Amino acid sequence: MSTARYAVFGHPVAHSLSPRIHQAFGRQTGIDLVYEAIDAPPATFADALAAFAAAGGTGANITLPLKTLAYDLASTRSERATRAGAVNTLVRRGETWHGDTTDGVGLVRDLTDRRSLDLRGRRTLLIGAGGAARSVAPALLDAGVSELYVVNRTPARADALADALGEPGVVHPRYFEQLGEMGEFELIINATSAGRDGSVPALPRSLVGMRTDAVDLSYGEAAVPFLAWARAHGCQGVIDGLGMLVEQAAESFELWHGVRPETDAVFDALQARNISLTTA
Ligand code: NDP
Repeated sequence: MSTARYAVFGHPVAHSLSPRIHQAFGRQTGIDLVYEAIDAPPATFADALAAFAAAGGTGANITLPLKTLAYDLASTRSERATRAGAVNTLVRRGETWHGDTTDGVGLVRDLTDRRSLDLRGRRTLLIGAGGAARSVAPALLDAGVSELYVVNRTPARADALADALGEPGVVHPRYFEQLGEMGEFELIINATSAGRDGSVPALPRSLVGMRTDAVDLSYGEAAVPFLAWARAHGCQGVIDGLGMLVEQAAESFELWHGVRPETDAVFDALQARNISLTTA
């Protein structure tokens, strides 16, 4: 039997940790696989994906900026992908692709299982309304957060996300200018890509209470500005997105192979290499 082929598509994608994570899962579970990183600008993504399928590709992860394109290219989609309007995992089914998103469940699993955070009843602030925010918001609601406030640099996108979530008593779009009047949150999640430019959205100290946990979906250098803000303002837990990355990969791995890999060893190895900044 030939070795199964998998890949992560993105642009750029050279620094993706996904090949390393999936190869480690493969060794751990005894599954022989090839997992590569394929750089595909949006204009050529459809062709690159078709060539990958023709060459025996049976599963793909999708990262920036291709998640909505992958959503469009999928012939069928999971309910959670439909809710998110984005796809980060493609599964080959016959001659077509099935689209799913594992980002949201990856975040929740990292917070609840690895960090032992109980999300139920938490007043939560989600900063950002891009692909990652759209993917994690439904999972946060499913995990039982009591209220979800969404702020975004472009307010119309926060409004659109709140509309799409469809829980008006629970989900509240807000402007950055209103943050000073909104009181304390028990969970603050930075789902923006501002850290990639070394910046952090302007956030007042009044958002942080005695028991506020802060999470940045980014990891590595991109997480530094927000996590530095969180530490300086006394947040209890300060968590970056490395655990989410490993957990979403495990969920994709299970979709493809029907086997759930153990994630702690892979997470610990990446964290030990200073790729994670988490102190919680
Ligand atoms: P998108 O490009 O889809 O969205 C980017 C978001 O960041 C938008 O809400 C955008 O606002 C906002 N933003 C960008 N720059 C600024 C700024 N200077 N100030 C305020 N807001 C800003 O990206 P994604 O949603 O896909 O990714 C967001 C982050 O999440 C990335 O850093 C990514 O690496 C990380 N991520 C981590 C994952 C993991 O497994 N750990 C998985 C997926 C994503 P606007 O709408 O106004 O443009």
